[in-house]
Amino acid sequence: MARHGVQHSALRGRLLPVPPVTFSMELDCIIVGGGPAGLTAATYLRRLHRHVVVFDDGRSRARWIPESHNCPGFPLGVSGTELLRRLRDQASTYGATIHHMRVDLLERTRTGWRVEADGQEWHAPIVLLATGVVDHLPTLATGDPEAALRNGLLRSCALCDGYEATDQRIAVVGPLDRAVSNAHYLSTFSADVTVVPTEGGNPEASRQPDANGVVVLPPLQTLTRTEGGWDVTDLTGRTHRFDLVYAAMGAPARGDLARDAGAEIDAQGAVMTDERMETSIAGLYAIGDVVTDLNQIAVAFGHAVIAASAIHQALPAKPRRRA
Ligand SMILES: Cc1cc2nc3c(=O)[nH]c(=O)nc-3n(C[C@H](O)[C@H](O)[C@H](O)COP(=O)(O)OP(=O)(O)OC[C@H]3O[C@@H](n4cnc5c(N)ncnc54)[C@H](O)[C@@H]3O)c2cc1C
Repeated sequence: MARHGVQHSALRGRLLPVPPVTFSMELDCIIVGGGPAGLTAATYLRRLHRHVVVFDDGRSRARWIPESHNCPGFPLGVSGTELLRRLRDQASTYGATIHHMRVDLLERTRTGWRVEADGQEWHAPIVLLATGVVDHLPTLATGDPEAALRNGLLRSCALCDGYEATDQRIAVVGPLDRAVSNAHYLSTFSADVTVVPTEGGNPEASRQPDANGVVVLPPLQTLTRTEGGWDVTDLTGRTHRFDLVYAAMGAPARGDLARDAGAEIDAQGAVMTDERMETSIAGLYAIGDVVTDLNQIAVAFGHAVIAASAIHQALPAKPRRRA
């Protein structure tokens, strides 16, 4: 890729405003986010002979998946880190460049988009956002919630792994309404589902099962990992034992780049798109968890294919010349 502009490092030592180093206009598309959505789009676009770069700062929530059993093509399951590795390999095999950098700024220009990362800038006629969501996790009395996610004792998505929770003793923690709604969903898998509210609960909660068999306890006091499970202490001081905890704390979309660029987002911060995954601004596309609350790898793949195909058609045709 051609490189223009001043040498950033040469000027860094002086107290002068440093113009960002500019990378070439030859790119067809800049992809922000290297999770399942962004990497799949990169593979498709490269296989359409489009020039793409992917920016990723390494926070794919897929990295926490201990083993996914609903990812198509992996009958015996696949860990999130292994899936990401394969997707990165696939995109790189077809020539996608992956920059391990956070994009700080996305700005419309006369001819397309300007993206800034690490004091440098890149230009392309089209940008595809695949920036995912931010998981809100409960505070644990001991240990790290991310470690608990990685070993499958703390979970966040019943559609992902509710099947593996079949007939387990399950606690759902989160704001009352959201936790109850999640608990009802989980009652498909277990007759032993209990809500422990982090907000909005009642210390006098009846503890009688509702029509779906879900019990609501008084609000949460502490959540403690034990050997093979959890101790959940409620505000009355009683401790209850569970096999698994599901977090229903919310996972707002990382839609800030789109919002700051002027694209429409919904009340939850999710980026709004049309059926070709284009946002309300021409030339800006969005895919994966950042646009939907059906947070699934297969959905991310599907979005990526739709967007890559639409982007290819939106770009000027590039007929292949005889060698
Ligand atoms: C514990 C857990 C278990 C799960 N299990 C399953 C399962 O079994 N099956 C299933 O289908 N789904 C599962 N999921 C959901 C699945 O992980 C997501 O649906 C999927 O990762 C979404 O892909 P994505 O590419 O949209 O977002 P992500 O995978 O989250 O990737 C977004 C990427 O964008 C990057 N990024 C964001 N902003 C910037 C920026 N400004 N600059 C550069 N990079 C940026 C982030 O670093 C991240 O790498 C699970 C999720 C969790 C948390």
